Amino acid sequence: MTAAHLATHVKDIQISLIESSDVPVIGVGESTVPPMVDYMAGLGVSEEEWMPKCNATYKSSICFSEFHAKGDPLIWYPFMPMGMVEGRPTSRYWMHKYRTDKAYADRFSFYDYCTIVPELCRQGKTVKNVFNNGYAYHVDAGLLGQYLKELSKSRGVEHVVDTITDVKMREDGGIKAVARQNGPDLEGDLFIDCSGFRSMLLGQALNEPFDSYSDYLFNDTAIAARLPYTNPDKEMISYTMCSAQSSGWVWQVPIYNRLGTGYVYSSAHKSADEAETEFRQFLGEDRVKDISMRQLKMRVGKQRRSWVKNCIAIGLSGGFVEPLESTGLFIVQGAVDVITQILKTKHDYTIADTTAFNASVDRLYEIIRDFLVCHYALTSREDSPYWKDVKYTTKISDSLADKLQLARTRFPDLEYLHMFDNAGLAGFSFNDGWQYILTGMNYLPFDYQQVRDRQTGPFEPHIKRNMPMADKLQAQYAQQRKQIPSLPSHYQFLKNGLYKGREA
Ligand SMILES: Cc1cc2nc3c(=O)[nH]c(=O)nc-3n(C[C@H](O)[C@H](O)[C@H](O)COP(=O)(O)OP(=O)(O)OC[C@H]3O[C@@H](n4cnc5c(N)ncnc54)[C@H](O)[C@@H]3O)c2cc1C
Repeated sequence: MTAAHLATHVKDIQISLIESSDVPVIGVGESTVPPMVDYMAGLGVSEEEWMPKCNATYKSSICFSEFHAKGDPLIWYPFMPMGMVEGRPTSRYWMHKYRTDKAYADRFSFYDYCTIVPELCRQGKTVKNVFNNGYAYHVDAGLLGQYLKELSKSRGVEHVVDTITDVKMREDGGIKAVARQNGPDLEGDLFIDCSGFRSMLLGQALNEPFDSYSDYLFNDTAIAARLPYTNPDKEMISYTMCSAQSSGWVWQVPIYNRLGTGYVYSSAHKSADEAETEFRQFLGEDRVKDISMRQLKMRVGKQRRSWVKNCIAIGLSGGFVEPLESTGLFIVQGAVDVITQILKTKHDYTIADTTAFNASVDRLYEIIRDFLVCHYALTSREDSPYWKDVKYTTKISDSLADKLQLARTRFPDLEYLHMFDNAGLAGFSFNDGWQYILTGMNYLPFDYQQVRDRQTGPFEPHIKRNMPMADKLQAQYAQQRKQIPSLPSHYQFLKNGLYKGREA
């Protein structure tokens, strides 16, 4: 991703991309968030061109099962922006209904009130054939890497297949060159460390400290597997499914030719064998009896600084928060975008760029971490040692404590969004995500009446005045929902379109 983006957007620099044939890529990371659409489009490649080569599908939403309580309805995080009524998000109208109208007394009514995406997802359809905005991709990580590598080469990147054996330092503590197994040292002005969890350059050679997030996020291991489809029409859902388990959660990411799945869990609460047994039971022991599974250790946290001297760590080498919100590749994209902006304008950088970059990365990680913590710390579950620990011992950062205090007085939307978002890196925003997750986790503003009485400004009269408009929007949604059954399934839509008849 880094090489392809730089090669496309920064002229007159020479880029070498080094990778080892002895050290495989991590091979997971197949669920993305909407900015990925801009990333791919920014490379100037169309979906028709790249998606079939990478077995990519559309992702409309993320769906969470049983993070707050066992047996709860599903929590949805649709990517399509929430409807607006007279300048206010529908969530505010829903809140009014929730407090005043018995028909909306179940907080899970929120999801269908705000968009029609959950219903599209439930019926196995895709947003792509209804709307053109608010989606991301599920994609074969290996194939996407290959595709971007070839693209990079075609745009002038030198591709070196060799293993780096040593890092040679400059006197000022920066990197002079990397030594490799089968060739001369490679010198450079700027080294981008994409070496994965081992963080060969920034972590090892430059010795930058690693700040662990283990007090905030307990999951440190994953078991990954790939399953063939038995019925792609049913199984190729257009959302990432995250299902809470006794000591973590399972992802299900349907790409075009298979289902990617994995159990992300806490090794302090489950041994590898216990986790695999639970995972196999979840998937159906019969179905997976011949499927091999891969254990992956996850280093959760971040290097204190991502850019030190002439070395920038991007990807797992710079940090990683667990994949519950599919943010790994987005962090890559955000970082590369900023570096591109810097190099594009001056083909050089200053200490001010480095400092600003590090501050942006810090803020991005903080927001993502805080957001992830809400999926856990607000749980009501106590049915396993893991969930008890999650509920009672998860560390709440000061920044999250502020956010949670604010979220008790009103929905995090519009005016206060900067508290929750706006990380300054590639315009990253969870947008409506906080509202979807906090509602699902039963963390709503306190008694609406009290809050309303304290409101200043036009908030409440505005909502009341415009409720007929909000009702009209609901009527439109109801109308649209009636048409959903006649739409092709997500699979049929892809097969008859981008995939030109190819079977899954
Ligand atoms: C369990 C799990 C689930 C994830 N799920 C998601 C998700 O759903 N969505 C998402 O966006 N992200 C996800 N991620 C993150 C995502 O997988 C990574 O951000 C992404 O794959 C980038 O990895 P990387 O390139 O940093 O590291 P790697 O894939 O590990 O690549 C490291 C590269 O460095 C090279 N290398 C290493 N050592 C040497 C050496 N000595 N000499 C030469 N080359 C070397 C290797 O050959 C390799 O090419 C997930 C991560 C994990 C662990």
